[in-house]
Amino acid sequence: MQIPYNKPYLSGNELAYIKETIERGHISGDGIFTKKCHEFFETKYNFKKCLLTTSCTDALEMCAILLDIKENDEIIAPSYTFVSTVNAFVLRGAKIIFADSEKNTPNIDVEQIENLISANTKAILVVHYAGIACDMDKIMELAEKYNLYVVEDSAQAIDSFYLGKNGKKPLGSMGHLSAFSFHETKNIIAGEGGMLVINDEKFIQRAEIIREKGTNRSAFFRGEVNKYGWVDVGSSFLPSDMIGAFLFAQLENLEKIQKRRLEIWENYYQKLEILEKQNKILLPKIPNYATNNAHIFYIICRNLEERTNLIAHLKSKNIMAVFHYLSLHQSDFYKEKHNNISNHRELPQSDFYTDCLLRLPFYYELDAEKQDFVIEEIKKFYT
Ligand SMILES: *Cc1c(COP(=O)(O)O)cnc(C)c1O
Repeated sequence: MQIPYNKPYLSGNELAYIKETIERGHISGDGIFTKKCHEFFETKYNFKKCLLTTSCTDALEMCAILLDIKENDEIIAPSYTFVSTVNAFVLRGAKIIFADSEKNTPNIDVEQIENLISANTKAILVVHYAGIACDMDKIMELAEKYNLYVVEDSAQAIDSFYLGKNGKKPLGSMGHLSAFSFHETKNIIAGEGGMLVINDEKFIQRAEIIREKGTNRSAFFRGEVNKYGWVDVGSSFLPSDMIGAFLFAQLENLEKIQKRRLEIWENYYQKLEILEKQNKILLPKIPNYATNNAHIFYIICRNLEERTNLIAHLKSKNIMAVFHYLSLHQSDFYKEKHNNISNHRELPQSDFYTDCLLRLPFYYELDAEKQDFVIEEIKKFYT
C-alpha cells in the first residue's frame, strides 16, 4: 500500500464539461466555462473582478505589471514562501525585502513590516500559508498609512476567511490584488491554472488588456470598440476554456470537497494531539481571526535531524510526507543577485519552518484506513 502525498481528485463532470466546450467549437480563452467560473467566484466571494489565468505565477506577474513595478522598487514579502510569490516582482526589477515568519504560523510577522518600509517601498506581499489568514486589518492599516499596495498570494487560500473588524471576509478579497492557484496540489484544481482577483477597480481595464497580449480584444468582444489593437504591454495569460471547464466541474463540488478535507484535517489533529501534549511535535495553530480551509496538514518536528528520520521512517512504510519551502533569503540566487550587506537580516522563524515543518499525505480520497496507518506510524516513530 503506497500512500502518496497528493492525489488529484476528479469530482465528476470534468470530462463531460471539457467535451461540451470542445463540441461548442470554442476551446480558446474566455469561453462559456471560463465565464461561469468568473461569475461563481465573483458571486460567492464578493471578489470585484476575477480573471482566470494560466497559473497563479502568471496572476502574480500580472500584479507586478499592474502595479508598475520598476527597477529599485522595494517589495516586502515573507521568506518562507514559494519562489513565484517574489519572482514575479523580481522579473520587473524589484528588490525583495524579506520579513520573518510569525512564531505561531509560517505567515509573515506583521510586527516586523513597519521597520522594513522605506521611501522605495511599493507593496506588501502576503501569503496565507496553508490557507490560514494573515492578520489583514493590521496589514491594510500599514498600507494605508504609508500609501502602499497589498497583494495577497492566495494560492492556498480558496474558501478561507479572515475575521476582522469588518466581519468575515474571504481571503483574496482584501488586498488591492490577489492571486489564486488551481494547480493539482491545491484544494480546487485544474491541472495548471490560476486566477487574478482585482479588488481595486482602477486596475480592471488594464488587467484585461495585459491578459490579452496588450490588446483591447476584451473590449472589442463586448462591442465597446469597433477594432482592437496594440494598446499596452501584455502577454498570453488567459487559459483555454478546457481549463475553465475542468475547474467549473470542481467548483460545483466545492462544498463537498471542503467538507471532506476538513474531516481529514480534524482527524489528523485529534489523533496527533497526544504527541503535542507530550512535547514531541507541534501542531498547526489557527489564530482567532482565521478560519481553516484544510489545505495542508503539517506537523512541526523538534529539529532537522528528527524530521529527516521521520521522513525516512514513513518512506520505509510507503508513506510520502514532504517538507516545504526553503527560506528564500538563504537561496543561492538571492544571495548572489540581491543580497547586499544592508539587506541581510537573520530570519530565524523562517529557517525554523524550513527545517522542521513536515506535510502529511492530504487528498480528498485519503480514506480512514490509510490515514490511520499514517498516524500510527508517526506515533510508532515517537515511541
Ligand atoms: C502553489 C503556489 C504558487 C504557484 O501556483 P501556480 O499555479 O503553480 O503558479 C504560488 N504561491 C504559493 C504560496 C503557492 O502555494
